[in-house]
Amino acid sequence: MKQMFIGGRWLSAHDGRVLPVVSPADGEVFDQIPRGSAREIDEAVAAARAATEGAWGRLNGTERGRILMRIGEAVLAHEEELAQIEARDTGKPMSTARNDIKVLARYFEFYGAAADKVHGETIPFLSGHQVSLLREPLGVTAHIIPWNYPAQMLGRSLAPALAMGNATVLKPAEDTSLSALRFAAIATEAGLPEGALNVVTGLGEEVGAALAGHPGIDFISFTGSNEVGTLVQQAAARNAVKCVLELGGKSPQIVFDDVDAARAAPIIVRAIVQNAGQTCTAGSRLLVQRSIYDRFVGQVAELFAQVRVGTPQMDFDCGPVMNAAQRDRVQRYIDQARASGIPVLAEGRIAPEAPVTGYYVKPTLFGPVPRQDPLAREEVFGPVLAAMPFDDEADAIRLANGTDYGLLAAVWTENAGRLQRVAKAVKAGQVFMNCYGAGGGVELPFGGTKRSGHGREKGLLALEEVSATKTLVHYHG
Ligand code: NAD
Repeated sequence: MKQMFIGGRWLSAHDGRVLPVVSPADGEVFDQIPRGSAREIDEAVAAARAATEGAWGRLNGTERGRILMRIGEAVLAHEEELAQIEARDTGKPMSTARNDIKVLARYFEFYGAAADKVHGETIPFLSGHQVSLLREPLGVTAHIIPWNYPAQMLGRSLAPALAMGNATVLKPAEDTSLSALRFAAIATEAGLPEGALNVVTGLGEEVGAALAGHPGIDFISFTGSNEVGTLVQQAAARNAVKCVLELGGKSPQIVFDDVDAARAAPIIVRAIVQNAGQTCTAGSRLLVQRSIYDRFVGQVAELFAQVRVGTPQMDFDCGPVMNAAQRDRVQRYIDQARASGIPVLAEGRIAPEAPVTGYYVKPTLFGPVPRQDPLAREEVFGPVLAAMPFDDEADAIRLANGTDYGLLAAVWTENAGRLQRVAKAVKAGQVFMNCYGAGGGVELPFGGTKRSGHGREKGLLALEEVSATKTLVHYHG
């Protein structure tokens, strides 16, 4: 039975309520977390505010940076333990979980090293005046994260906020709070002062909503679904606080007839089966020029049929999906596509030894998928790839931009001019050219266009989101 972390203390919910922790690999309950409430959110926000006015708020950038870098080292020292926690909680393969912990450490190294390199500016103004632009922390920042990459997401969201000197309140997803709780202990041992990080566990509609609507916060970073993102933005608007929204995606792989097929095909398969397709940046649409459609999609299908699904310990390409609701949702998309007659080009294999009580779905490649079909337009958030042919460059761009989303895209061609033209015409926060980068890349500014959200995380740009400028105008005669 776990406890929450508020103001440097480990606490149960004030009313003793708990939530079960279920293993996606076998459907068994193996732990409990506190089911927090608005009361614990009040306490966490107050503790964070006190931290901004206390020991944490008095540190300079160099001192904060040292602490963050020590946290990065401590995470690496606990890599195997954290990876085991993460794999059990999410069901993901062990090697994926280990990589996620490395990325978590990397966020703290990167932003730790950046903490004392955020400079202000001077601005030429009227004679007799000196104007300087300072960059200051916002105060108390709220972080609501999803269940697909719990450790990576907490690093991505918290590290830049802490580097700038904010004090943070984290609401992990109710399905996956364990790595965040263990992380809080590790970060505290590494020297993070009391109140700089508070972790409140519980249900989204209870603690998540209480945090998003709390009058004591100064900023919200939300990663999750479009539905909840809209609620969070409404809550932020009521308090006039800024929010960064990282929402869903339906990212296209745009493959032209001069593609280096042997290089592209395995990367394309990996980009959809990675993390069982539960990646906001999953390459879930495979758009292929008609002249090579059959040949190239055939190559992808051959690799796709070799994808194996199993428990974290089996460490195959793909684990179970997160929970029963998610399994049913993904299965519904597969069943509907089959029922409407869309051809199945390949299926992965679920290991026969995988417990039948686990939440496993068969990775499935469909094609050609009609352009208006839900599979071509909606985020499945599972290992389902929709192949579609296009005619020429203009048609490829139209098709790529034909969803509500705009998170990531990849362009595959050996023609340099076409790479540049298509990359510039595609609506997305990141475009990969002859490669694909779902996850990782802490240095690279990341975020959505259109319904995929707004604001940027990762890279140095994230520091601007969690800070504000102050303009000082001094008349010196
Ligand atoms: P979700 O929106 O249901 O939950 C996300 C978080 O919001 C959880 O912590 C949840 O407890 C909390 N929440 C739920 N209801 C809330 C409410 N009323 N008020 C405040 N908080 C609330 O999303 P999910 O199912 O956990 O994650 C899947 C979605 O997240 C997918 O759409 C996926 O594309 C998206 N996602 C986006 C990114 C990105 O960076 N763009 C990354 C990962 C996931």
